[in-house]
Amino acid sequence: MTESIDQFRLRARAWLAANMPLLDEAVAPSPDSWERDRELQGRLLDGGFAGLSYPVEYGGGGYPFEYQAVFNQESAPYEMPYALNFPTLAICGPAILETGSEELKREHLPKMISGERLYCQFLSEPSGGSDLAGLLTRADRRDGDWVINGSKVWSSSAHKADYAMCLARTDWDVPKHEGLTMFVFPIHQRGVTVHQIEMVNGSSEFCQEFFDDLVVPESAVVGEVGDGWRVATRVLTHERLAVSGGSPYISGTRHAASSPFAQRSTLATLASECPAENEGWAQDVLGRAEVAQLAQVHLNRYLTEEMAKGRLPEAAGTMMRLFHAEVAELEADAGLELAGARGVSHDAADIAGEWAKHFLSRQSTSLGGGSSEMARNVIAERFLGMPREAAADRGIPFREVPHGH
Ligand SMILES: Cc1cc2nc3c(=O)[nH]c(=O)nc-3n(C[C@H](O)[C@H](O)[C@H](O)COP(=O)(O)OP(=O)(O)OC[C@H]3O[C@@H](n4cnc5c(N)ncnc54)[C@H](O)[C@@H]3O)c2cc1C
Repeated sequence: MTESIDQFRLRARAWLAANMPLLDEAVAPSPDSWERDRELQGRLLDGGFAGLSYPVEYGGGGYPFEYQAVFNQESAPYEMPYALNFPTLAICGPAILETGSEELKREHLPKMISGERLYCQFLSEPSGGSDLAGLLTRADRRDGDWVINGSKVWSSSAHKADYAMCLARTDWDVPKHEGLTMFVFPIHQRGVTVHQIEMVNGSSEFCQEFFDDLVVPESAVVGEVGDGWRVATRVLTHERLAVSGGSPYISGTRHAASSPFAQRSTLATLASECPAENEGWAQDVLGRAEVAQLAQVHLNRYLTEEMAKGRLPEAAGTMMRLFHAEVAELEADAGLELAGARGVSHDAADIAGEWAKHFLSRQSTSLGGGSSEMARNVIAERFLGMPREAAADRGIPFREVPHGH
């Protein structure tokens, strides 16, 4: 690397000032924000700042991870295509980089980095998401292709995405983890039906998909046939890192334009608006949320550094993921408490109503990317050396495992 990190910082600072729009925190994400994100990603690409941590041969910058961190600091005052990180750039991309064939990497990574293609994850199923290896969607060989049948659910933004990484069962005669294969294919094609699910908070970002004799070629296999669990593990590892802010592939910073709740100052505003007789109580509520958030920053920094130095295994990302969910819940609770009676009716112009609405999705951070209970299981078994959870299906061919279908 001929350019020092300080030189890079100065170059990034000048380029951002000349090319990226300053963040207007009053602008909420709009339904067409994906198109805006693609356009902004195109600007980053032209400037040589897209996919900084990806290898050059796949369209990235080829920089060490610290350069992306510096770019994220410098880009904080600007509007960035932050949503493209989830799951395209920070989850699907790294998983394909680590497990895909050369051909697959050349096919997918440059188009992710340019913003041309958005990806999503088809993992969870109506029969359950925690027992991911127990999934029922099947892929069968036919005339050199694969034919996929089944259903996936809770796929974030599948209706807007172009491609999906989809885990399916290709062998029913081996134990559950051994009979899985990961595929990547275009979503909007014959054999795939995408239904948007309307949530209690009014969002329709979640989708359910149905596969009816969906035909995909052999080249859609990520990694090896039967090795899908290893690929899925990489997807989940990157998801945990991305969700908790520890991913080296994240470009940009979460800010008010991506979620008003990332802007904790709105909690402080709410606290300051409480009647004088409640001042002490409001400060306590706000203080708890602020302290938790501060602890999270330091925990993430410590764990990220220890993992980078190889002193902690990558599974330590599970601790970030768990604490992230705890903090998010605490903040959601604080927002609702401070909103008080103003939270009862939803007035979009009133931040109190927004926090009350936000409370409706309070549980999402403790489920997305694997539940908090599953994270606790990982920590207990892999860090604390506690005995493995009992499993009645261990070592048994999946065909013989009783299930609902
Ligand atoms: C914001 C968000 C985004 C998501 N995005 C996607 C996506 O893009 N793609 C996708 O495929 N999925 C996605 N999901 C789904 C998510 O992965 C699942 O919700 C999650 O894995 C849990 O699965 P489940 O909802 O089927 O719950 P279940 O697996 O049915 O579990 C129900 C409850 O039982 C608990 N439980 C289950 N097994 C155990 C156990 N062994 N020990 C202790 N407790 C247990 C769980 O913790 C949970 O509380 C998303 C979910 C959310 C909330």
